[in-house]
Amino acid sequence: MITMGVDVGSTSSKAVILRDGKEILAKAAVPMGTGTPGPGQALELALTQAGLTRDQIDCLVATGYGRLTFPGADHQVSEVTCHGRGIHFLLPEARTVIDIGGQDAKALQISDKGKLLNFVMNDKCAAGTGRFLDVMAKVLGIPVEGLGDLSAQSEQPVSISNVCTVFAESEVISHLAAGAKLSDIAAGIHTSVARRVAALALRIGVEGQVAMSGGVALNQGVVRAMAAELKRPILVHEDAQLAGALGAALLAAERAR
Ligand code: ADP
Repeated sequence: MITMGVDVGSTSSKAVILRDGKEILAKAAVPMGTGTPGPGQALELALTQAGLTRDQIDCLVATGYGRLTFPGADHQVSEVTCHGRGIHFLLPEARTVIDIGGQDAKALQISDKGKLLNFVMNDKCAAGTGRFLDVMAKVLGIPVEGLGDLSAQSEQPVSISNVCTVFAESEVISHLAAGAKLSDIAAGIHTSVARRVAALALRIGVEGQVAMSGGVALNQGVVRAMAAELKRPILVHEDAQLAGALGAALLAAERAR
């Protein structure tokens, strides 16, 4: 049995193909989200990688912000359910999942079977999301992928007191004008994101082992800052960004059975 999950995000599109709900045959991530050719490209990339065609997929589940507009899915499932399932597959010991994507942040509690028990979400404000990091990386003149390594060199992180992304951007510009080191500004940016998302997570309680999912989990600076805010280690799997698509492929396998 071959199944597929496609995560149509606000910022990026991901696809995972599974054999028998157990073995990952292909995975793809494209940095273009809903309303762009990204979702179709992620699907095609994964199919090509697996050497398959769409009609060989027994069940396809779409998830993510743009799941309802993705053509050709057999079912749609919300991303909170899919992230819980995906992270359970990658890191079975996790009971709390912090998912930071391009335009929102969520904290999930999951059971020892990966079932969603509870969640909280911020999708009203760019602070504490990938968007905040993308804006700040642009101000610093570096790609967002470079923020994590840069902040690792910080010795004296700056403080960013404004929560609002627009005001925080002005604050970063002031720090630049005052001659602060880029590494110290990057570390301050990560602390700002981590503080905001940690406060969100604490609203449902942070229990057991904590894992991060979503694209921002690839930013080691945010992971370090989150560990400092929550005062506990954070588990990150190299496929953390694909957790939603993987969860969708796992749920597709359940439905196909
Ligand atoms: P979506 O909400 O579209 O599903 P993702 O979960 O893929 O978004 O997260 C997108 C965010 O992840 C981007 O805004 C960016 O800040 C961050 N990101 C993506 N790739 C990387 C990377 N390689 N290194 C650091 N951050 C990344």
